[in-house]
Amino acid sequence: MKTMKTLGLGLALSCLALNAAHAQDDSLRTAIRADYQANLESLYQHFHAHPELAFEERETAARLAQELRALGYDVTEGVGRTGLVAVLGNGEGPTLMLRADMDALPIREQTGLDYASTVMRASGGGELPVMHACAHDTHMTALVGTARQMVERRGEWSGTLVLVGQPAEEVGLGSDAMLKDGLYERFPVPDAAVSFHTWGYLKSGEIRYVPEYAMANVDTVDLYIKGIGAHGASPQLGKDPVVLGSQIVLALQTLVSRELSPFDVGVVTVGAFNAGTKHNIISDEAHLQITVRSYTDAVREKLLSGIERIARGQAEAAGLPEDLMPVMEAKEVYTPALYNDPELTQRSVAVLRERFGARVGEADPVTGGEDFARYGRTTEDVPVFMFWVGATPQDTIDAALAEGRTPPANHSPFFYPDAEVAIPVAVEGMTAIALDFLKKD
Ligand SMILES: [Zn+2]
Ligand SMILES: [Zn+2]
Repeated sequence: MKTMKTLGLGLALSCLALNAAHAQDDSLRTAIRADYQANLESLYQHFHAHPELAFEERETAARLAQELRALGYDVTEGVGRTGLVAVLGNGEGPTLMLRADMDALPIREQTGLDYASTVMRASGGGELPVMHACAHDTHMTALVGTARQMVERRGEWSGTLVLVGQPAEEVGLGSDAMLKDGLYERFPVPDAAVSFHTWGYLKSGEIRYVPEYAMANVDTVDLYIKGIGAHGASPQLGKDPVVLGSQIVLALQTLVSRELSPFDVGVVTVGAFNAGTKHNIISDEAHLQITVRSYTDAVREKLLSGIERIARGQAEAAGLPEDLMPVMEAKEVYTPALYNDPELTQRSVAVLRERFGARVGEADPVTGGEDFARYGRTTEDVPVFMFWVGATPQDTIDAALAEGRTPPANHSPFFYPDAEVAIPVAVEGMTAIALDFLKKD
């Protein structure tokens, strides 16, 4: 009974809140709907049909720049190679940065859409198909939609809006390139940075967020294991890197299971193991390619130093001399974990809930990477927040689940987002967050 009563009261309260919210939201929602019909849908289809790979987003950036300039933004192109920055100053107040990524993937589109990509990019004598399979086209379109609402509502806010069209998210290098090219020196330093990602595993129009750590540190490690070559018939004359490499792979399995606290997150996956040329030759080198995932810097350090320690220890046990110890190369550029700032998250989620009610929910963190994180990892200490917008109709999800599979989603050649729902929701969410962050005192 107590539960019933509480539930009833909760419903009554949220109905009131929704009614209040709807009264003020209707004009924004209606304006976005009209903009979608008049402009955004065709813009989205244009971006979708003309995808470009990482650091090649020249036509894409030119079109995005043209759209934002037409709205009155001060646009600078060529930031971080193919990135762009659009600034709208609107008096005193804080600075908010909104970011959309622009790159597509080397995938042959198989959606059968009228506006499907047929783009082929020349690649070393051959050709690579290109497709917006991660829905970055919806991100750019929503950025333009948000930019327009913020111009039309400039009487309701005060401060500076910085819009970023970022290249090369899929290769994890775009935000780094823009920061190194002076994003926080040549343009106003933001007091917060917000972004969203369209998500194909989630029902159209639903919104999800993860408080604090949402996505992982991604490290890419190459381990070069040395050996001493010999005839396969005389193993006593060599040091076999295939056996040593196998021992290292097995020993690495204890890093997460025996060295991390059960409450810490870590992944060490050996994705590739290459060695040797022929049945009867003991080779003199093996090469492991490893991906390492973590959330905290402490766990990251523990896993990376652990890989090096284990590789060396196993090589010593195999009796290899000092000059034949394994060499580990951790790629200098890694994707840092996405940490949603608690205060900014709480504030933004409150705004989203006011607009979308029960369609907003908390999600579990994942161990994928997202280079939006890097905007929060500079000496400027910018708080960042990223949320997810669902883009697959419920009946498509149900049909897939009934067949025992998941629906086509991000990075699938069959994935196309439910743009008509996802883009207006994203524009409304981003605009609402921006209007709140930049609201007049
Ligand atoms: Zn992607
Ligand atoms: Zn993506």
